Amino acid sequence: MSTTVEHMARPLLSVEEARAQMLDGLESLAAEDVALLDALGRIAAAELTSLTTLPPWDNSAMDGFAVVAADIADATESQPVVLPVTGEVAAGAAPSATVVPGSAVRILTGAPIPAGADAVVPVEDTDAQPGVAELPKHVAIRTAFEAGAHIRRAGSDLRAGQRLLEPGSQLTPAAIAVAAAGGHATIAVHGVPRVAVLATGDELVAAGVPLGAAQIPDSNTPGLMAAARDAGAEVRSLGIARDSLDSVRDALFKGLEWADVIVASGGVSVGAHDVVKDAFASVGRIDLWRIAVQPGKPLAFGRAGKTLLFGLPGNPVSSLVTFELFVRPVIRRLAGYVDDGPAFGREIIRAKLMDAVRKAPGRRGFIRVRLVAAQDTWRASLAGGQESHMLAALAAADGLAIIPESMDSAAPGTEVDVIRLR
Ligand code: AMP
Ligand code: MG
Repeated sequence: MSTTVEHMARPLLSVEEARAQMLDGLESLAAEDVALLDALGRIAAAELTSLTTLPPWDNSAMDGFAVVAADIADATESQPVVLPVTGEVAAGAAPSATVVPGSAVRILTGAPIPAGADAVVPVEDTDAQPGVAELPKHVAIRTAFEAGAHIRRAGSDLRAGQRLLEPGSQLTPAAIAVAAAGGHATIAVHGVPRVAVLATGDELVAAGVPLGAAQIPDSNTPGLMAAARDAGAEVRSLGIARDSLDSVRDALFKGLEWADVIVASGGVSVGAHDVVKDAFASVGRIDLWRIAVQPGKPLAFGRAGKTLLFGLPGNPVSSLVTFELFVRPVIRRLAGYVDDGPAFGREIIRAKLMDAVRKAPGRRGFIRVRLVAAQDTWRASLAGGQESHMLAALAAADGLAIIPESMDSAAPGTEVDVIRLR
């Protein structure tokens, strides 16, 4: 088992090295079959193929008259072709009528094309009144149509055996609809990651509670729970632990009974009361500590059995930014994303900095910016103060501008990558 002391001696890990260790060997949660609507937003665990061919038969794209195209080849506005109407097919009815040459059958949208017909003339191109229930004896057709006109061919949408869903794809409303069209009432999806959130700190009280002397609201618990839910997790709070090993450890044991991931915040630095690393080591092990990132350097990661343990820094901006960089990718992997791309579901754009920024050299900086689309480029302006307690600036930001490790400042006009947060 690794000790805290060993880790303190090591150089800072890069963002990629840390993330690779967190994702290493991490499997998506086991698949379960859920009802169509319950699959919304979840990740397909298996390929889904169509059980049906749709349309199952040639059908009409219009309300109108099924005819033999050759019969109406000479129809014009001034010299319509008049045909006897011998029957009707409605949607949901098997066609009993047959179109013999020189006749027409009234047909409604979605109804099967009757035998003998090879075109549908829309009601608008005839003298028939749309919406009249009574079947006319004759119909005058004013426009010529070629064979195949207004006929939706069998199998033109889906064919039995056709692939509808790829494993690892997210279930959108349209994906759910196509699964239903393909004959499925359930979809195999990965389990929903369970994330338990723990705040630590003697100064914290729950949001909304009047503040006593030396107290501040716990903003990390609601913020991190929201971020976890937003990333696709089911969330629970483990409350606020005191700055004591026993208090943090008790809360961790509670979390371990339920969670796939425990996200603690605070108490992970080198202060006299920073007990989270020791608590992790006592319920499991610590795999890494300290990452070359700003904000958020003192981040601890470990495991207890199958549960992943994150000890995020307490400063509210640091905790949410490191959640974005490290916890979100882990939640998405558990949820079933296989090829999640370099930005884990986020878009990365190039933008021009509008303000000067400063940061610590040797760490990758994530600057809270507001994005505005300009003619040929995006422009990124500081969303507010950049210190790691300045939550209002994060709340105002819609992007994190990435400043490379090698730089200690960037001048206005510098082109940077920006992670779009919304
Ligand atoms: P720590 O990492 O425990 O040293 O905390 C760093 C800073 O973040 C301190 O100013 C704490 O008061 C603050 N902090 C820690 N946890 C929270 C929290 N849950 N909500 C708001 N601020 C916090
Ligand atoms: Mg603290």
